[in-house]
Amino acid sequence: MQDCVTKPVDGLDGGLCSKCGAIKPLAEFKRKLSLLQSRAMGYAGNYPLEVVSKYCKACQPASKPLRALPKRQLAEMVSQGVLPQLVMDNVLSVRGRDAKSKQREAALMRHEQDRRAAWSGMIKEVNAELKVVIQQAKFAGYANDKFRLAYTDLYKSMLVSAREQLKFKLTMTDDKPGLLQDWRQLFSVEEIRGLLAVWRDIPSRTKAKMRIGHLINAEWRAHCGATNMTEAVLAGRQAQRMRMEHMEKLRLAAKERAERAEAERPPEEPADTSAVDDLLSELGINPNKE
Ligand SMILES: [Zn+2]
Repeated sequence: MQDCVTKPVDGLDGGLCSKCGAIKPLAEFKRKLSLLQSRAMGYAGNYPLEVVSKYCKACQPASKPLRALPKRQLAEMVSQGVLPQLVMDNVLSVRGRDAKSKQREAALMRHEQDRRAAWSGMIKEVNAELKVVIQQAKFAGYANDKFRLAYTDLYKSMLVSAREQLKFKLTMTDDKPGLLQDWRQLFSVEEIRGLLAVWRDIPSRTKAKMRIGHLINAEWRAHCGATNMTEAVLAGRQAQRMRMEHMEKLRLAAKERAERAEAERPPEEPADTSAVDDLLSELGINPNKE
């Protein structure tokens, strides 16, 4: 304890504060110690000891709460006997718990921020794409191009639905992107195929001047496996062509066989129909008429 008796001022029941220099009555310098503090100073500690500080009450440092003291200082106080071990343990455990919960809170906050950032990043991309398509729709409207309009209308509605889905996910506190890293993952291969079909309907001279939608560009089609679909279509066409070739072969073979059979067939005696023909001609009916 650094306390020492304040400097007496002659003729006054008071003291001079060594910090602010004010002369104050002696009561302004007195401070009570706790029983443990009294015992630590070597007293019996049956009643709290009153010391006279060299600072006035206004200048005495405010005692910090135990939870604000560093562990080392607490340990020192325990070793001095000013603080029971149990109190220190309690203070430390509460502090550890608080720190942990604060960490958890910070982690949750960070997680929530990341989650929102992920969703809103995707929403931003959809909006950018939507802006392009709206512009394309405007020019298609000027040109009254039904192919372009079919494409822009479909793509616009798909983008709006994607944006609404993403907005909904953003408001759900427990919905994190996880595997969904790209807004385009919201669409199935069939939907992409549908949009692609509408895109392919646009005359290529017009298409060459348009920016293809991110949902159906080559990169994304390769990523989502829509390319496999194309390969499957090609394979299907190949199979169909082979089937047709096979059929053609069969047909030719059948024709050849028929011709050969025709050639090998012994010439038949023409049936004697002259009598009937004569009768028919008599009746005025041409027998060769169908
Ligand atoms: Zn003072």
